[in-house]
Amino acid sequence: MSEPAILDADVGIVGAGPAGMAAANVLAAAGLAVTVVDEGHRPGGQIFRQLPEGVDAHGAIAEPPSHRHGHTLLEEFARGTVRTIAGATVWDCKPGRVWFEHDGASRLLRCRHLLLATGAYDRCIPFPGWTLPGVLTAGALQVMVRGFGVVPGKRALVVGSGPLLLPTVTALLSAGVQVVAALEASSRWRALRAVPGVLGNLARIREAFWYGKQLLRAGVRLRWGWTVFRCEGDGRVQRAVIGQVDRDGRPRPETARTIEVDVVGAGFGLVPSIEIGQLLGCASRFDPARGGHRLIVDDRQRTSVPGGFAAGEVCGIGGAEVAIAEGTLAAHALLHEVRGTPVPRASVARALAERAAADAMLRAFAPLPGLHALAEPDTVVCRCEDVKLATAQAAAACHGDSLRAIKVGCRAGMGPCQGRICGPSLQALATGDGRRECDLPVVQVPLKAVRTATIVEAPAD
Ligand SMILES: Cc1cc2nc3c(=O)[nH]c(=O)nc-3n(C[C@H](O)[C@H](O)[C@H](O)COP(=O)(O)OP(=O)(O)OC[C@H]3O[C@@H](n4cnc5c(N)ncnc54)[C@H](O)[C@@H]3O)c2cc1C
Repeated sequence: MSEPAILDADVGIVGAGPAGMAAANVLAAAGLAVTVVDEGHRPGGQIFRQLPEGVDAHGAIAEPPSHRHGHTLLEEFARGTVRTIAGATVWDCKPGRVWFEHDGASRLLRCRHLLLATGAYDRCIPFPGWTLPGVLTAGALQVMVRGFGVVPGKRALVVGSGPLLLPTVTALLSAGVQVVAALEASSRWRALRAVPGVLGNLARIREAFWYGKQLLRAGVRLRWGWTVFRCEGDGRVQRAVIGQVDRDGRPRPETARTIEVDVVGAGFGLVPSIEIGQLLGCASRFDPARGGHRLIVDDRQRTSVPGGFAAGEVCGIGGAEVAIAEGTLAAHALLHEVRGTPVPRASVARALAERAAADAMLRAFAPLPGLHALAEPDTVVCRCEDVKLATAQAAAACHGDSLRAIKVGCRAGMGPCQGRICGPSLQALATGDGRRECDLPVVQVPLKAVRTATIVEAPAD
């Protein structure tokens, strides 16, 4: 039976990652009608990604201890009464209304409460050769290996900054890829600043040891204060020039050396995916240590828009444990609004503690401004519109240094990704000021690329 064009639910959730699933499980167990929509082909979000039905992986991907929470969440999610619409792209939204494309058809979800659990996307920092085939973001490499069972190469370089590098290395190792080098741009001393903040969080310490053990066993040494200067190759990446950076992330050319690789995963952190929240009018804040612009929520995960809740990376990068804790808290807070049931104190405390530990860790990996010096005048900074650094700089000099002026002046950020890839770095690159606060990007409908017919045939509110 085909799905109706208009669906109704007590609670609509965008995002079936750990935050969305944790919230949905609590709400459905309490008897509310919950509908979760997600672009992915199966629930799990970025971290608990599942292979498509019927696809065999090349072998077991090693999983850190925290992933057992993922299995529990997924099992409960599958057992419960949550209506899940996978492969659904949300392209428009207003309070209590979510328009999405599913199976080529235009759909509307009407709900009394809306929870945004839209996660994050990779932060890209352009460097010469970053657009060569074989050079991917660290997140994209994980998606290939863990989400589609694809082995992307034989000799990998993993480079960037932040905790996502370690799962990328271990995913590649379990897929049988040789990790030739793993480079973290932050210095070891900067990273040590995170230690006091996570000392009380045994799960994170256990996790760190687990990753350390995997790297040690495979003979991979994480080099601190190193990064990639450029990638080279004939039609695809064949070599990478790597070297040390100073404490601000500025390259030290005298340390450069060349290594042979056929795949590169570059992950310079994550950026919260707040576009749906922006469209709804939710208040946001620029918070570099949490990845950039993020949604503001109160101590019950309520956004500034009545009836709206948000949880997980959309409220600032923090990892899966934060997402689960905040999703659970948001569900309890929502139940309190609907039924007056008390919000468990333990749920509030857990969300606070997980967020505090994540903040402490991420401060040590906040984006290094000097890394923007890697790009050269002819380095592409906007892949969709093929805009080079020199053009973006000329646009900033001529039209003004706001994100909007740069965009209008050179078309950077106007392509299909709508600035998701280039936006977070564009202003710093164009103005040469890596420390400046990035403007809040303007969002427009459709939020994501959908068929014209989807927009034309959108069910009326
Ligand atoms: C590419 C990538 C790979 C990652 N891999 C790992 C990893 O291996 N290990 C790790 O510790 N951390 C990983 N992370 C970090 C990870 O995001 C978090 O730790 C955790 O998954 C956050 O949970 P969340 O529920 O907040 O968001 P997510 O898990 O990101 O879930 C958000 C969901 O919202 C959906 N969504 C967003 N916008 C729309 C829309 N417009 N329409 C429909 N659906 C939408 C997405 O499809 C996604 O499934 C990864 C991040 C990224 C971006």
